[in-house]
Amino acid sequence: MNIHEYQAKELLSNYGVSVPMGKVAFDHEEAHQIASDLNTEKYVVKAQIHAGGRGKGGGVKIANVLEEVKQLAEEILGMNLVTHQTGPEGKLVGKVLVEEASQIEKEFYLGMVIDRATEKIVVMASPEGGVEIEEVAKHSPEKIIKEIVDPTVGLLPFQCREIAYFIGLQGKTVNQAVKLIMGLYDAFVDNDCSLAEINPLILTKDNQVTALDAKMNFDDNALFRHPDIQKLHDPTEEDPTELAAKEWGISYIKLDGNIGCLVNGAGLAMSTMDIVKHHGGEPANFLDVGGGATTEQVTQAFKMILSDSNVKAIFVNIFGGIMKCDTIAEGIIAASKEVGIEVPLIVRLEGTNVELGREMLSQSGLNIITGKDMREAAGKAVEAIK
Ligand code: GDP
Ligand code: MN
Repeated sequence: MNIHEYQAKELLSNYGVSVPMGKVAFDHEEAHQIASDLNTEKYVVKAQIHAGGRGKGGGVKIANVLEEVKQLAEEILGMNLVTHQTGPEGKLVGKVLVEEASQIEKEFYLGMVIDRATEKIVVMASPEGGVEIEEVAKHSPEKIIKEIVDPTVGLLPFQCREIAYFIGLQGKTVNQAVKLIMGLYDAFVDNDCSLAEINPLILTKDNQVTALDAKMNFDDNALFRHPDIQKLHDPTEEDPTELAAKEWGISYIKLDGNIGCLVNGAGLAMSTMDIVKHHGGEPANFLDVGGGATTEQVTQAFKMILSDSNVKAIFVNIFGGIMKCDTIAEGIIAASKEVGIEVPLIVRLEGTNVELGREMLSQSGLNIITGKDMREAAGKAVEAIK
């Protein structure tokens, strides 16, 4: 799960991480009110969406006087913000963070992730901040320091000092950085994060080390332990179809291709996408209806797939174990009656009650392409698009 910058900053400040003073606003009047309560000369108004690159996209603006805050908030609120992380469709801005503006001396990068190779938390930092860290990693990897945390002792102060020196801090600012990195680490571990990123971490003109931006991701599988974090969930940031799928107990993830996939079991769903790709096709989605789906769930799954206008064919790949093939057949027939499936439908059924399922489909009068196995059916699905 992702949270907004303003939520991450609030959380982190409870761990002693220094952040600029500020608050979230939902309209421009509120933005003005928040700004007038801040003890500062300049202000920054920042779009709150679950995507980075807001600065370049016009979602981060500095107000030189209080009166400007209202106008900037009005501009940013309701705008469709397009950044390299939102995709071309962009994201509608519904809230802004109003902060005291910082005077930046230098920008750095600071991040933490769980490294799958070492199975440990790794802290990364770079003197090249404010830019995309992926670019730094690609073109000048020597400018990134990595500290691997031994979980038995946790992150140690000397590691933080090494990071601080590496990014070019000196004197008292080193201690500030140590405190900030330690705070970020504690927040990471306490809340079962999978990623925490401060980009940029800044040194201000008056020698303060501060988190100017904050991004945090949480491990969904650990969310049950953190009801306070769960409350930070913002449903407006999620794909509506994915959200609806969750409510139906279906795992659906939208992708960019045009072959809709309806599969039971996550493993089979993954290999279905692989085999579609192998035949030169592009899956439109990942969809796992689960082991024991009902006719109703299967019907919903079809609706979800068809709600994506990119879908030009549907590939149903079912292995009936717990799931019975006749249930799937029933779902396909019910869905086609309800929503009307106009695109080619390719079905591969195998397993429990397969004969019954096939019989039902062939008598349904639906125009269904069948494959004798997964490979053949995938090939036919890709063929059907052409
Ligand atoms: P992102 O583009 O979505 O990552 O948003 P950031 O919060 O990182 O802001 C983008 C950029 O805006 C930063 O790298 C800064 O250069 C600039 N910026 C943000 N806040 C301030 C501020 O208070 N003062 C100044 N001078 N620049 C700021
Ligand atoms: Mn940033």
